Amino acid sequence: MAVPFRRTSKTAKRLRRTHFKLNVTGLVSCPHCGAMVESHHVCPVCGYYDGKEVIHHANKSEKK
Ligand SMILES: [Zn+2]
Repeated sequence: MAVPFRRTSKTAKRLRRTHFKLNVTGLVSCPHCGAMVESHHVCPVCGYYDGKEVIHHANKSEKK
């Protein structure tokens, strides 16, 4: 089995990992209010899902 010739420096390791990022998947814009929401989830901003209001007055009474 091949063995590394020398230890990878902290800088080389960190520079390599600058390309290693998490990406957020499954986000779509809400057709009702336009906010970015998870697909197949009720919109947490306006409470709409599939063109209907599922959660009534979500955030309207809380955000004052
Ligand atoms: Zn919405």
